[in-house]
Amino acid sequence: MITEKETVLVTGGAGFIGSHTTVALQEAGYRVLILDNLCNSDVAVLDAIAEITGEAPGFIEGDIRDRALLDEVFANHRIDAVMHFAGLKAVGESSAEPLSYYDNNVNGSLQLLQAMQRASVRTIVFSSSATVYGEPQSLPLTESHPRSATNPYGHTKLVVEEMLESLHASEAGWRVARLRYFNPIGAHGSGRIGEAPQGTPNNLLPYVAQVATGRRTEVQVFGADYDTPDGTGVRDYIHVLDLADGHVAALAYCRRTHNELLTVNLGTGKGHSVLEMIAAFEQASGKQVPYKIVARRPGDIAQCWADTEKAYRLLGWRASRTLSEMCEDAWRWEQSRGGVEAAGK
Ligand code: NAD
Ligand code: UDP
Repeated sequence: MITEKETVLVTGGAGFIGSHTTVALQEAGYRVLILDNLCNSDVAVLDAIAEITGEAPGFIEGDIRDRALLDEVFANHRIDAVMHFAGLKAVGESSAEPLSYYDNNVNGSLQLLQAMQRASVRTIVFSSSATVYGEPQSLPLTESHPRSATNPYGHTKLVVEEMLESLHASEAGWRVARLRYFNPIGAHGSGRIGEAPQGTPNNLLPYVAQVATGRRTEVQVFGADYDTPDGTGVRDYIHVLDLADGHVAALAYCRRTHNELLTVNLGTGKGHSVLEMIAAFEQASGKQVPYKIVARRPGDIAQCWADTEKAYRLLGWRASRTLSEMCEDAWRWEQSRGGVEAAGK
């Protein structure tokens, strides 16, 4: 129980996962202050959050690399904890523009941690990724699986994980959670917030959703010759609302402990192939989703899914939403988004 409302600074809170987590935090009784430079999100998400929860989150438009701004934010607000989502996340782009990725993700995190240290705010929940496991040597992936990176994006996540570990070891009082997400999909059931990729979606589900609405003609299935049951890639897809609940559980865990370095997977423990995902989306939407098998995407792994036991043991958290719910919610969001875009034209 929270007696007086604690304030969580949510960097990247206007984005896909940050916006859903903001809703979950508000519903759990926290006050939220979002810091986002809107490089991959729209300010309209703030009104949508307020419609859902009845409470507008605080919002500062700005960059996590802006030292003076960070000092001002920590000086002017009593921040109890930070959830750090802000960053760039497109794997392909990270190979084309590695320095932007090191600047945003590594330098940005460094600036944020230094500002937290100056302000004596020592609780942070960080968005890491299952990409830090590299090519799986065994499945399911446990948190102790060796880490490696196959692209600059993955490397930025590894570096920040290490930075957090060193910081935690260096000074008493830091409570750090490194949450390794598997494949977040879906949207809020209201259809008011969801994933809004700019341009051609890189990820499977947003692409499938756009084929279902007719915005794109067919899904390109990247390889059907993997060593998986139907030959297509297998991933652990998790509803973004379950992921958001996982963050609230991780923060609650940090608040109960001192000097904690928590590293947990946030996944469902189940894998689904590309073809299974297309079939599930067709079922949820009632639309046909044409597809074509094409060559493998360079750098893709065949399959991965999470070991979820540690998260359950420590946080008492497990993902509960089904694949149908993920697809139905993503479909509702995609349709309402189509309406918004059409109205805006
Ligand atoms: P997103 O792009 O929707 O959200 C990121 C937000 O951060 C955006 O609103 C963007 O405007 C903001 N931002 C980026 N750089 C910033 C900066 N320098 N200063 C201030 N704001 C900045 O992405 P998402 O899917 O919500 O991902 C959130 C986090 O989770 C990222 O760190 C990402 O790497 C990580 N992650 C995402 C996935 C996924 O599949 N979506 C998987 C694993 C990890
Ligand atoms: N995928 C695909 N077509 C697409 C996008 C992705 O076949 O247009 C496949 C991809 O090869 C992988 C799975 O879908 O097997 C999930 O890809 P995504 O990019 O969503 O997540 P990640 O590869 O980061 O796990």
